[in-house]
Amino acid sequence: MTMSRFWSDVVKGLKPYVPGEQPRLANLVKLNTNENPYGPSPQALEAIRAATDESLKLYPDPNAEQLKLAIAKYHGIESKNVFVGNGSDEVLAHIFLGLLKQARPILFPDITYSFYPVYCGLYQVDFETVALADDFSIRVGDYAKPNGGIIFPNPNAPTGCPLPLAEIERLLQSNSDSVVVIDEAYVDFGGESAIPLIAKYPNLLVVQTLSKSRSLAGLRVGFAAGHADLIEALERVKNSFNSYPLDRLAIAGAAAAYEDREYFDKTCRAVIASREKLISELKALGFEVLPSAANFIFVRHPQHDAEKSALALRRRSIIVRHFKLPRIEQFLRITVGTDAQCAALISALKEILSA
Ligand SMILES: *Cc1c(COP(=O)(O)O)cnc(C)c1O
Repeated sequence: MTMSRFWSDVVKGLKPYVPGEQPRLANLVKLNTNENPYGPSPQALEAIRAATDESLKLYPDPNAEQLKLAIAKYHGIESKNVFVGNGSDEVLAHIFLGLLKQARPILFPDITYSFYPVYCGLYQVDFETVALADDFSIRVGDYAKPNGGIIFPNPNAPTGCPLPLAEIERLLQSNSDSVVVIDEAYVDFGGESAIPLIAKYPNLLVVQTLSKSRSLAGLRVGFAAGHADLIEALERVKNSFNSYPLDRLAIAGAAAAYEDREYFDKTCRAVIASREKLISELKALGFEVLPSAANFIFVRHPQHDAEKSALALRRRSIIVRHFKLPRIEQFLRITVGTDAQCAALISALKEILSA
């Protein structure tokens, strides 16, 4: 690693997140970063076009009220219960600094979204990991110990495994003195959202993104829903960092995406149907597939090395994600693509497994 003498000590100590690659190759079957294959709502695109005018000379609404109202209306809450940011990654960053930096270490699973330890490094938040069960499920009983906060995705990433709402509620009840953050990046593909619980639990913060189920990863919009006091903490961080995280186009496009329920429902249903078909085809090839309520699946083959299979797929222009990490190095995370992309994956795997 090269280091410059001009770097601050903080920068020298950082271990940045490594995003899935975005290669620009023609005919690539890209199943590595959980993007939605169907594209954004046409109404969202139209709203972005309509907002592309002279008014771009003006700063956007720093409070993005139009978007907060659209999200609040959709979820049956109030705009004072909504915080919006430049992608849910930015929302999460503000949560780590504003709510999870406490005297006691925070808790998250040993296998989870790999950005969490990165934010802990950036903001010097102490953490402890809690091992998932052998079947890769989250056992909420294991989080019943003193902590400075709890965070995990539901469904979890990169496993895709969902946790029932009753378990989330059990966790909230046994941790009423810490903030519990549920990262629902994939919830619309079959999970149960905890947003209805925010009225009952002032320590609950739910994070969602428009990058996956609303197919707007390129627009960078995410939000948190929770008690107004939690939201206020995030506003304070945001207004000490960047007052205008969402530009005019993002506010207009994201708000319009929430208005188009029909397109949203149709595309989520299509992804779920493709996922179920893909799972049964992979099982027929001998893969073990963890239960998934996400737009990706986490699979291993008892007789074939995961890293070698990922390389063999890449030679056929299909990219999936492999994590060289303890407990999961024999797994591949595969995004659910269109049926045609899934079919290309299955026929490539048939070749690879029989070679
Ligand atoms: C994709 C993802 C995010 C980040 O989403 P953005 O809104 O695109 O920043 C957050 N959490 C999890 C678990 C994710 O998979």
